[in-house]
Amino acid sequence: MSADPSDYRNVWVYLERDGDALSSDSKELIAAGRKVADKLQQELVGVILGYGLEGIPREAIEYGVDRVLAIDDPVLADYLSLRIIDALGYLVRERRPYSFLFLSTEQGKDLAPRLAYRMKTGLATDNIQLEVEDYVSPQAKQTFKNLVIQIRPDFGTRVAKIYTPRTRPQMSTVRPGHFDPLAHDPERKGVVEIVPLQDRKKVYTAVVKELKEIPRSALDLKSAQVVISLGLGVLKDKHGTLHNPREAYELALELKKAIEEKEGLKTEIGATRALIYAELKDLHGLLTHENQIGQTGVTVSPQVYIALGISGATQHKVGMQKSRKIVAVNLDPHAPIFQIAHYPITEDVYDFLPEMIRRVRGGTKVAA
Ligand SMILES: Cc1cc2nc3c(=O)[nH]c(=O)nc-3n(C[C@H](O)[C@H](O)[C@H](O)COP(=O)(O)OP(=O)(O)OC[C@H]3O[C@@H](n4cnc5c(N)ncnc54)[C@H](O)[C@@H]3O)c2cc1C
Repeated sequence: MSADPSDYRNVWVYLERDGDALSSDSKELIAAGRKVADKLQQELVGVILGYGLEGIPREAIEYGVDRVLAIDDPVLADYLSLRIIDALGYLVRERRPYSFLFLSTEQGKDLAPRLAYRMKTGLATDNIQLEVEDYVSPQAKQTFKNLVIQIRPDFGTRVAKIYTPRTRPQMSTVRPGHFDPLAHDPERKGVVEIVPLQDRKKVYTAVVKELKEIPRSALDLKSAQVVISLGLGVLKDKHGTLHNPREAYELALELKKAIEEKEGLKTEIGATRALIYAELKDLHGLLTHENQIGQTGVTVSPQVYIALGISGATQHKVGMQKSRKIVAVNLDPHAPIFQIAHYPITEDVYDFLPEMIRRVRGGTKVAA
């Protein structure tokens, strides 16, 4: 909505639930919104829609929002995006938020662009950082005050700052894994406003006929304490001899087992997009899109990240650079991954892996 920005106030975050609780990603989004709201000296408002919300709005306050706008209605029991967009559109027109943040999750990616289009405002997707700054436009010869600066990885190697200076709300989606949730404070004060759903009798052409839950995969990269990741470097050894990548996968699996048995640290196997997209028949069904770490995959922050034969492209780094300790094994001493590695090891993965397995089995500690 283009208008005088001073007509718009407060930072909104769209909250998602996980069963009867606030989703863990939503707690991160609250932390992102809190940072922006504090800098703008505005209220942080959580928006949640659904049925049977019960304690979830209160939980959002305990994690850092000042106010919750909750629409709790049986009509919202099933997820129907157009109905939610109608409800959000109504709220935005009525209350005029300065900024509205969504998660880069399936719901966020579904809702945010549709809402931005309806509100005739901009949307910056997949942000990993948010700032508040003034922006001097040389073309317009104008200074735009207090803009939410939305920072995301670009298609190349740089990180772009996206400005939407003239329209409000400034809208963003934020990638999970880049903000730490605020400490839980059960005493925290805030206001829960229950808002009635408008046009609840409106009939939509789309109807939900059946819901089927997709079984959750056993792979849980996000909560792993150690992630062992494979890149295209597993295809050849230091002599240039071709290797079946299955060999490196089996070695990584053996290392995973050794770490779990010897150190009791939950360990998972990840991969670069390049290795997964190579669709190698020997890795079929073993490494899928679910194992992908990075901008278009999962963001992880384990105690130890072991990057094996990975160059360290920006799109990969944004998914793992918050790891507490990074071990990188690469034949090229100038590989970009070494710029962020705590333990840069210029070595062949096929020499490193058997030695590492032997040492872990022999009692060498992996976690710092
Ligand atoms: C829009 C977009 C989104 C993307 N999203 C992602 C994403 O989410 N995740 C992601 O990972 N990528 C992503 N990419 C791709 C990314 O740009 C890189 O192409 C990719 O990460 C490179 O993968 P890699 O490191 O396995 O391969 P390479 O870049 O080819 O690196 C292989 C490395 O292995 C080393 N090496 C070779 N042999 C050995 C050996 N025997 N022992 C040790 N080291 C060895 C080499 O020196 C080299 O550094 C994206 C790209 C785009 C354009």
